[in-house]
Amino acid sequence: VNDTTVALDYAELARGLDDAPPSEIISWAVERFRPSIVLACSFGGPTGMVALDMVMNVDRTIPVYYLDTGLLFRETYELVERVRRQYGIDPIPVAPDRTVAQQAEAFGPALWERDPNACCAMRKVQPQLSFLQNFDAWISGIRRDQAKTREATQVVQYDARFKVAKICPLAHWDERMVWTYIDAHHLPYNALHDAGYPSVGCVPCTRAVADGEDRRAGRWPGFNKIECGLHAEPAAGEH
Ligand code: SF4
Repeated sequence: VNDTTVALDYAELARGLDDAPPSEIISWAVERFRPSIVLACSFGGPTGMVALDMVMNVDRTIPVYYLDTGLLFRETYELVERVRRQYGIDPIPVAPDRTVAQQAEAFGPALWERDPNACCAMRKVQPQLSFLQNFDAWISGIRRDQAKTREATQVVQYDARFKVAKICPLAHWDERMVWTYIDAHHLPYNALHDAGYPSVGCVPCTRAVADGEDRRAGRWPGFNKIECGLHAEPAAGEH
């Protein structure tokens, strides 16, 4: 069975599930892939918190991981702790081979200022590649309306980069639906969302966004880059 055959099978499944409520998509995926399914949660976006809550309602034994680049905000680590207490789970930090200091030694300081794609490749994509080798499927909280690069997101698809099934149960939700769910269920979320940060990543590559500005403008400001490479190819050219 090659990648294309698998991709076609998933496209068929996606058609059948596209209109299903997210909790139904999650239940289906958990049934099909457990115990080889994992939830990615960045703890830096509201949609991930909804996905986390929905997965926990289905099965609290599904492992939850986050990419601990070593450059996350204090508020993000605080949220991990809150989730640990609230749900009684142990989110897995997936870290790069090199610490930030070792990376600076090998490639010079503040690589993110010169080549963020290389930095993301080492601190996010490679660690996720190694980690997902242990699983058949990952669940992600990304949405189609978040960026042009995410418009084609399917609820079930074959992820050729990581060679696993990718389940995006909230692909068709929008920001308003996400916050309505968070408020209704009193979910924890990253405190920086209340300080003008719609999306929270690494400290050097995230800033607050002004009213009316694009929601992704606060990520990699100054670069022609809106993706880290986990969900879509980052832009080839910089600046
Ligand atoms: S978001 Fe910035 S600091 Fe974090 S891994 Fe990517 S380039 Fe490096």
